[in-house]
Amino acid sequence: MSGSYNSFSVAQQQIREAAAILGLDDAATQLLLWPQREFQFTMPVRMDNGQVKVFHGYRIQYNSARGPAKGGIRFHPGETVDTIRALACWMACKTAVLDLPLGGGKGGVICDPKTMSAREIESLARAYIRAAAPYLGHDKDIPAPDMYTNPQIMAWMMDEYETITQGHHPGVLTDKPTQMGGSEGRRDATARGGVIVVREACKWLGVDPTGTFAIQGFGNAGQRVSLLHSRILGGGKLVAACDSRGGILNPDGLNPKELVTYKLKKGTVSGFPGSQSIPRDSVLEMDVDVLYPAAMENAITEDNAPNIRAKIVCELANGPTSPEADAILQKRGIHVIPDLLASAGGVTVSYFEMVQNSNSFFWDEKTVNGLLDEKITKAYRTLQEAIREKMVHPRLAATLVGVARMAEACSLRGWV
Ligand code: GLU
Repeated sequence: MSGSYNSFSVAQQQIREAAAILGLDDAATQLLLWPQREFQFTMPVRMDNGQVKVFHGYRIQYNSARGPAKGGIRFHPGETVDTIRALACWMACKTAVLDLPLGGGKGGVICDPKTMSAREIESLARAYIRAAAPYLGHDKDIPAPDMYTNPQIMAWMMDEYETITQGHHPGVLTDKPTQMGGSEGRRDATARGGVIVVREACKWLGVDPTGTFAIQGFGNAGQRVSLLHSRILGGGKLVAACDSRGGILNPDGLNPKELVTYKLKKGTVSGFPGSQSIPRDSVLEMDVDVLYPAAMENAITEDNAPNIRAKIVCELANGPTSPEADAILQKRGIHVIPDLLASAGGVTVSYFEMVQNSNSFFWDEKTVNGLLDEKITKAYRTLQEAIREKMVHPRLAATLVGVARMAEACSLRGWV
C-alpha cells in the first residue's frame, strides 16, 4: 500500500506469467486478469459524537467458476480498490491451490478501527451488510474476518443479514463465534496451516524444525503461530517479534504465552519484560531458521531481500513479498513458502465451517485439525510436484496450479 507499489499490478503480473507458461489463449488470460464483479458502497454511520460520518467500502468477487466467492473483509485506513482486487485474486488462486469448491473474493472498508468505539464498529459492520446483503449468501459469496475484523464483527454481520432475510443463514459467513455456528479450530487455522507447511518444508530441505524463528506482525495469525510453532514441531525458539509499534529481541527466547498475554493487555509487543527493543523492520532480517511475515503486503522488497537470513520464509500474510524480492530470495537459495499455500489454513477451515453449517452437525477440534493437516500436506505435495515438473520457484508453481484449475473450470463451463 505504500509508494508506487500496486498490489493488483503485482497480482496481474503473476497471472500473466502463469497463463503464458500454461499456454492459455488470450480470452482465458483476459478473463482471469480481472474480477468478475465489483461492488462499491457508500455508508453513512452515526458516530458517538452524534455526527454522521460517511465511509466507503468494497466487495469484489474475483472468479466464481469453481464455486461461490470466498474471502475476508478488512477494516483498514489504507484500503484501496486495487488492494481488494489483488486480495480477491489471491483468494481465488488460494482456494484453487487447496482444491476447495470455492472461488475468491475480498471486501474492505476504509476506516481506522483503532480510533473507533465498539458501538461505532458495530454500526459500520451492520451498514456494510445492509449494502452488501443482496450479493452475499452461502451459494454466492461468503465473507470472513481479515485484517482488523474478528468473530465478534462476524456475529454482528450475521445478525444483520438474518434480520434482513428473516431466517437463519449461518453459512453466509465464516469464522463466527462457536455459539453461532463457528467451527472449532478456526481461530488457530491460519497459523496451524503455516506451521504444517513449515514442517513439510523442513523435511524436504533437511532443516532442523526445532531451531529459531521470528514473527513480523503480531495480530491473530502472528500470535497463534507463536504458540503453535513449538507445539506442532516439537520445539523451536521464538527470538524476535514486532507489530506496527515496534520490535523486540531476546536471543535466549521469548516466552510466546507471556508475550501474547502482554500484547493483549498493552496492545503492543514493545516493552515486553526481558526483551531488547529493536527497529520494527529488522525482525525480517534476523538470522533464524524460519521467518513468518504475518503483517501486510509488500513487507519484503528489493531493499531488504538481500538482508533476509532465514532459511525458510513462511508467508502467513497475503502478498508480503514483492516480485523483485522474490527473484532475489530465489537466487539466494531461501525457500519461500508462498501465501497461496502458507496462509491457506484459514480459508480451508472456513470451508469446513460451511460444510458443518449446511449439515447442522459439528465436528470436534481434533477432527478439524486432522482434516486440515491432510488438506495442507496434500497441497504442499502438489506444489513440490509442480516445482519439479515446471522447474519454477514455489510462488510461480503455486500460481500455475491455481490458474490451471481456474482456467479449466472456466473452459468446462464454456466461458472461454
Ligand atoms: N482472510 C483470510 C484469508 O485471507 C480467510 C478467508 C476466509 O476464511 O474466507 O485467507
